[in-house]
Amino acid sequence: VTDRGVRVRFAPSPTGYLHVGSARTALFNWLFARHHHGKFVLRVEDTDETRYKDEWLRAIYDGLRWLGLDWDEGPDVGGAYAPYRQRERISLHAETASALLDKGAAYPCYCGANATEAASADPAACRCGARAVLERDARRETTPALAIRMRVDQARPIIVEDVVRGKVTFPPGSLEDFVIVKSGGGPLYNFAAAVDDHAMAISHVIRGEEHLANTPKQLLIYEAMGWQPPVFAHLPIILNEQRAKLSKRDGAALLTDYEALGILPEAMLNFLALLGWSPGENREILTRDELVRQFDLDRVVKHPAIFDATKLRWMNGEYMKAAPVDRLARGVRRLLDRRDGAARGRALEHNVVPVTGLLRGRVRTLADIVAQGDYLLHDGPVTPTPAALEKHCAEPETVDRLRQARAALAEVPEFTHDGIEAALRSLAERKHVKPGAYIHPLRVALTGQAVSPGIFEVARLVGKELALRRIDDLIARLERPRATDVAALP
Ligand code: GLU
Repeated sequence: VTDRGVRVRFAPSPTGYLHVGSARTALFNWLFARHHHGKFVLRVEDTDETRYKDEWLRAIYDGLRWLGLDWDEGPDVGGAYAPYRQRERISLHAETASALLDKGAAYPCYCGANATEAASADPAACRCGARAVLERDARRETTPALAIRMRVDQARPIIVEDVVRGKVTFPPGSLEDFVIVKSGGGPLYNFAAAVDDHAMAISHVIRGEEHLANTPKQLLIYEAMGWQPPVFAHLPIILNEQRAKLSKRDGAALLTDYEALGILPEAMLNFLALLGWSPGENREILTRDELVRQFDLDRVVKHPAIFDATKLRWMNGEYMKAAPVDRLARGVRRLLDRRDGAARGRALEHNVVPVTGLLRGRVRTLADIVAQGDYLLHDGPVTPTPAALEKHCAEPETVDRLRQARAALAEVPEFTHDGIEAALRSLAERKHVKPGAYIHPLRVALTGQAVSPGIFEVARLVGKELALRRIDDLIARLERPRATDVAALP
């Protein structure tokens, strides 16, 4: 196949939101198309009316766009091989089914009501394929068939040549006479996919390993029609770290889950590209252009790809360091909008950009910024952690020191980093203690944490009025009788 002839497709069935496995399939197809200057086609396999929803089609578009994957042909952009929604291609499927019947490669099946569903008919009990051709043709005139089955020669093996897995042999007898069209004329997946792949001049079918078992059926359709089959490449299954199939139970199996966690699309793209492929060097951070330049099918592996969530977080952290703060802040704001902040007081809108700048080098996701920067993002009270109380507020002088610090801060004329620092340092000097004697309890008051970014900057961002209020809160808490305090600990 010349580069010019590379045409690949992503063919999702919109029966749910975009799973990370599907996103990986879309990405590998896109990378392959872009690497070879070919075409990336989006074909929507929406023939299953009962399971289709418009909302899910939109989710597919949104997911692909979020990752930055553009398609050259598809339902929304059209193209020379339109239509791109499978349900609009039914007449082509019907014509092909007719051709297969005429060739004797397929036959009408009149078995009991069960034959309407592909899986439930018992092919062993079906004698329709054995009927004499004339009798069958006569019956075809008068009786509507309940299904159309492909005739499978039980005496020969079917060999799939797969770019990733090599020669895969399906031994004789491993395929029944499978249904290609069910009652009422609806084409089933294996049939419709093969017909459409051929009609759309698809050169390479790149898809998940779970479809390997479908490939012999599709090959038989190509063969019966005398069509040249595409090149097949089946991508390795994606497993979680416990080596089980990635599922909802892993917390995040959908692309939108990662968006909600504050993963950047470019990090997700990079991470997904390495699920089953590697550039053959030790680098893991690769830009979109580098991926396009280096991607090819020869370094797609057979063994399962492990979805290492820790690695994804690390990778995202690296991308966060490189991204413009304003853009990260927009992401943080989206996450803040989504959460229920009523209990926390009013949002401190003006802090979103500075907090993002302050924390992005210390965290791995945008959601981490929202969690760790919480005390800077709303004007409600903070609850000190037991660890912070124990570490920095256990000395008997703590309350006095907080009072002194409060008084000093109340007097700071300009509540800037330097103004705050000068006030606290001069207080410490006057009292002959180290600045830490004030800084640590203050940190607990303002942030509730034992550690935080530099306290002068934190205090500036909290603002004078809120800082004083939070200091008062901590004083009140520390002055409460010990017993209540202990009982109040989580
Ligand atoms: N609609 C099928 C799916 O979503 C497409 C499989 C294929 O790529 O042939 O799994």
